[in-house]
Amino acid sequence: MKDDNCIFCKIANGQIPSATIYEDEAFRVILDLGPAAKGHALILPKDHYPNLFELPDDTAAAAMKLAKKLGAKMKENLGADGFNLVQNNGECAGQTVFHFHLHLIPRYEDDGQKIGWKPGKPSSEELEETRKIITGE
Ligand code: AMP
Ligand code: ZN
Repeated sequence: MKDDNCIFCKIANGQIPSATIYEDEAFRVILDLGPAAKGHALILPKDHYPNLFELPDDTAAAAMKLAKKLGAKMKENLGADGFNLVQNNGECAGQTVFHFHLHLIPRYEDDGQKIGWKPGKPSSEELEETRKIITGE
């Protein structure tokens, strides 16, 4: 399953060159062109799935296993002090390329990056209301 108009399909399947750090039958892992930190990489399935919700469970599991393996290697070889996994779904969540990808972001004590959010302050009633909405209770 490829999408002819998708740049990550073309990169994942080798039609467009990329700085590849890993490849197997199902995935290509490339360095991000706009890295948050040195070594920022993207796990790309070779098949086209727009987001996490369309991704088959076994591919999702394999992507996470790969993140663990490559994350450890990148930490070791780059001397990273920490690591973020980021995965955006939907425009409002910051997704800009609509082919599932998992960001692997090595972090360094002095990298000056911020990956986060402004914490809210819900009351216990609000948390309970949200919990009920999610669980359908
Ligand atoms: P997202 O915002 O989660 O959709 O992330 C898209 C990521 O893809 C961004 O971090 C971009 O810097 C990166 N990106 C876009 N085009 C390319 C490309 N041709 N090669 C490598 N990374 C890319
Ligand atoms: Zn694609």
